[in-house]
Amino acid sequence: MNQLQLWKDTGAVSLSFDDGSASQLEIAVPTLNQFGLYATFYINPRTETDLAPWREVGLSGHEIGNHTVSHICSRNFGWSNQKSLETTSLAEIEDDILLAEQHLRNLLPEQTERTFCYPCYQNHVGEGLYRQSYVPIVAKHFPAARGTGEAANHPDLTDLHYLTSWIVSGWMSGNDLIQAAKAAMAQKRWIIFVFHGMSPEKPSMWDPASYYHGGGFSGEEFEVLCQFLSHHTEEVQTNTILNVAQQVRQWRATK
Ligand SMILES: [Zn+2]
Repeated sequence: MNQLQLWKDTGAVSLSFDDGSASQLEIAVPTLNQFGLYATFYINPRTETDLAPWREVGLSGHEIGNHTVSHICSRNFGWSNQKSLETTSLAEIEDDILLAEQHLRNLLPEQTERTFCYPCYQNHVGEGLYRQSYVPIVAKHFPAARGTGEAANHPDLTDLHYLTSWIVSGWMSGNDLIQAAKAAMAQKRWIIFVFHGMSPEKPSMWDPASYYHGGGFSGEEFEVLCQFLSHHTEEVQTNTILNVAQQVRQWRATK
């Protein structure tokens, strides 16, 4: 970025996409490329055919991040036939993370570093007395990782291995996201938006699916956000989570 210094002069925005859906390839990637913006895509590398299209996305400058192979979440979601975090050990979660890492390195050896994303924003295994954080395992293998939570990330204070994020629902508008970005810009913080599916049309506010995974964020509303970000590069840097995390590390080291 020109002569501007992150944190001194500007805040930062990262656009992140979870679970590697086809709608992200069809709607989000072309829009980002049109506006010259780089984003982070957290995928679950299961088979080679799933992965092939993401190689091109990675080669064009977007970050392809690790979202584990098995995407294990709390059993409270009630998903049948799936392993749950309550019955997973730290060693098993590490194996799942490293298997994904191996697949991603094979897919895109050109990208030597990547960040991690906690499936369902959950960073623990076990329950009750035996519940343990797996953040230290993630911190051993990655420069940064995305969770979710309260305020946008403060460059000095945030835990780089459980970055907070803003979960985008389908009923929100591009302008809602612009307002959130402006608040982060005013405070010189780093806001990370979380998208799941993308949808050609804006879903109804009353569609329960629009509140969570797969609800889809409208491609048109996404364009509104991208246009704003590409027109305000003097006030806000839009970059991958990896690239901003590296700048935070450098900034902390020189303070
Ligand atoms: Zn996910």
